[in-house]
Amino acid sequence: MSEPVEPSQVSRAARTRRSVLVAGATGLAAAPLWAAAPAAAVGARAAGPAAARSGDAADSPPLTPDRVLRILEDGNRRWVAGRLRHPNQTVARREEVAAGQHPLATVFSCIDSRVPPEIVFDRGVGDLFVVRTAAQTNDGLVQGAVEYGVQESLTPLLVVLGHQRCGAVVFAVETLNAGQEAPAHLKDVLDALRPAYEAAKGLPGDQVENTIRAQIRLTVHQLEHDALLEPFEREGRARVVGAYYSLDTGAVDFCF
Ligand SMILES: [Zn+2]
Repeated sequence: MSEPVEPSQVSRAARTRRSVLVAGATGLAAAPLWAAAPAAAVGARAAGPAAARSGDAADSPPLTPDRVLRILEDGNRRWVAGRLRHPNQTVARREEVAAGQHPLATVFSCIDSRVPPEIVFDRGVGDLFVVRTAAQTNDGLVQGAVEYGVQESLTPLLVVLGHQRCGAVVFAVETLNAGQEAPAHLKDVLDALRPAYEAAKGLPGDQVENTIRAQIRLTVHQLEHDALLEPFEREGRARVVGAYYSLDTGAVDFCF
């Protein structure tokens, strides 16, 4: 059901999108792009490269949430099958994005060393904004980083990526089950995971797995209701999806 996406195709789309953004992209010092720009300009940017193209729309479709999701699914299938293409990992790509970045997606994931987003989705330099914390725990700084990633480059897809046997969740479940406190800033991690722990408590099945999935769902819910992102999700210009990564198979299940 998915279509093949050549790296050069994505790269061309990103270049076109950059040309759309040039007039309005003034960086962090400026007011938020989406909030401050006139409606027509916002519409043109959020519509992606298709809005600015005149002749190449057929061979380079717009980077809609659906299309970016298919690109990530295709990359993950290559990772699972051991047929990586390593797109956008060349010196030419490095030079291309040195002047500006327009990633396909923002990925909010765990710090786990076995779940590097660029590898499990078979992408390269300039393709993904990546925010990583233990068990993708969220707070104001993290959510601000996510907002920035989406706002700065209008990435149409935001992926919340949890994973099998998450060590931070194991730590939280064991500590909370024992009624113990966590030392130093691990207390912050514990506090951030407490809602998922409570949501999963008493459910049938494995408590850690249930808590991992609850944490993905709750984080998706938080981001779906982000004040900056919500209007664009409502209009179909951006989407938040939850995903679960299997350490055993390498497969990402976009199940939330
Ligand atoms: Zn983890």
